[in-house]
Amino acid sequence: MDYERLTEAYSAMEQTRSRLELATLLAGLFRDTPPEELAAVAYLCLGKLGPAYDSREVGLSDKSVLRTLALASGTPLDNLQANYAKAGDIGLVAEEALAAKSQQPLFGSPLTVSRVWERLHALSLETGSGSQERKFRALAELLHDGTPQDARYLCRTAVGKLRLGFSQMLLVDGLAEAFGSREERSMVEAAYNRHPDIGWLAQRTAADFSSLADVRTTPGIPLRPMLGERLSSAEAVLEKHDGESAFEWKYDGLRVQAHLLKGGTRLFSRSLEDLTPQFPDVVDALEQALPTGVIVEGEALAIDEAGNLLPFQVIAKRRGRKHGLAEKLEEIPVGVRLFDLLYANGQETLDTAFTERREQLETLFTPSDRVACTTLLRTTNAAEAEQSLLDALEGGCEGLMSKALNGSYRAGARGWQWIKYKPDYRSDLADTIDAVVVGGFHGRGRRGGFWGALLMATRTPTGFETVCKLGSGFSDEDLATLKQRLDPIQRTGPPAGLKWKLEPDAWFEPELVLELLGAEISQSPIHTCGGGYAVRFPRYKRQRDDKTPETATESDEVIALYKI
Ligand code: ATP
Repeated sequence: MDYERLTEAYSAMEQTRSRLELATLLAGLFRDTPPEELAAVAYLCLGKLGPAYDSREVGLSDKSVLRTLALASGTPLDNLQANYAKAGDIGLVAEEALAAKSQQPLFGSPLTVSRVWERLHALSLETGSGSQERKFRALAELLHDGTPQDARYLCRTAVGKLRLGFSQMLLVDGLAEAFGSREERSMVEAAYNRHPDIGWLAQRTAADFSSLADVRTTPGIPLRPMLGERLSSAEAVLEKHDGESAFEWKYDGLRVQAHLLKGGTRLFSRSLEDLTPQFPDVVDALEQALPTGVIVEGEALAIDEAGNLLPFQVIAKRRGRKHGLAEKLEEIPVGVRLFDLLYANGQETLDTAFTERREQLETLFTPSDRVACTTLLRTTNAAEAEQSLLDALEGGCEGLMSKALNGSYRAGARGWQWIKYKPDYRSDLADTIDAVVVGGFHGRGRRGGFWGALLMATRTPTGFETVCKLGSGFSDEDLATLKQRLDPIQRTGPPAGLKWKLEPDAWFEPELVLELLGAEISQSPIHTCGGGYAVRFPRYKRQRDDKTPETATESDEVIALYKI
């Protein structure tokens, strides 16, 4: 097929915003495309050379494309550079330059989709000395044989900025319309969720539409991940899950989908990017814990010297870019907390109930200090779930993920079978509270050796009343400074004038004021503020060294917030 047929479609698609119209344009394009070029057309519509987990790129810089254009069009490089600075779009500069070319080519080979595809592919593999020069010549050849409109899209594709502004899901719409019907879109999408390779899908859809129903997970090809909805009360979560749910700690790491295969393990990110080369230690940890022939999902975290889990991103960010991370990570061990099993014993397990998948996962792997399953509490009781949330917050997590017991793994879908359960700080309490530290609880795990949670109090005209146990929102640095501040002011018993019920591990002189944010004020049997009120899900904001206990928030102010 002529490349021009594709660039005409690009151009028409650039001029419409309507999803339905875009899908129809795509469907027309797909129907016109011969089977052997369908995969290439599908990838090229996204400006890609393969599926998301194939990182190949043409990899030409704007600068080299401008140089190529100067050669192909005879326009001085300075002019092109000035136009580019003005237009900001390499495609428009290319189109204009080639349209202005005085002589159109006399000889040339036809510019077909296959030729463009093969050339771009070959370019993506070019590395090493002289590679820029070779890329440069190959692009010039294509530009020579194409129309000015072809040049617009060729140059955009070459620099990785095709940007037609639609997603793979729109291609799914187009494929359904081209080879089946709009009504059958969900079947195409289900196949895509299990095998998110748009080129492969295009070919299969065209060749045998009804066989899409048989598409299953293929080891080595990542599935689109399942996603959750969000709620901020345990009662609401339990109601959604018919009275009982599995509440798991929600770790703050890097989601990995690991395919343990005979030929080697492959890791994929939430957006299906291939992470394998970047994280050899995650591969290593998983290979030691799991047999081959399985696909699992988990959260990768870094482990510090004391064996505590740290957010993976901390290291990923601190170390900077993707490249070079592998060497750096060798010094810092990683752990994985597994939460799902997607494939085992030669078949996918997506339609197996969550509890069974979890059981299977637990029997499959060998626990080690680096690999474990997520902490999980199966309960019908909202108070227990809430306690688990508090433990998770104290353990450095941002909340819980609750899973419907009978839920299947719905690849690519966001639904109520998974619910993020975390405090909603945007709700009732817009104002922060400045409370006084009166007691401390020893930290465990990652917070070992520090004060893991603090007993906080508000002020009354005659003394203090406890208002919450503050165990969340501390960075490692905060924990260290708080220890330094609090250790010297420990005392043997509760401060005079303090009303309390919850006994901490240590008491402090009421000196240090901390600002905290809560999700709401609720009645509490264990706190004494206003005769039994507390801040729910308190989160540490900062030290208020400018405040003394005498200017801390009063109990009456907290009660007023409850009544709002
Ligand atoms: P989303 O993935 O829902 O679009 P997001 O990327 O912002 O949103 P969050 O809303 O914070 O992520 O929550 C989902 C993520 O939580 C998952 O993608 C996964 O990486 C992580 N996670 C941590 N612990 C668990 C767990 N026990 N079960 C499932 N996911 C978990």
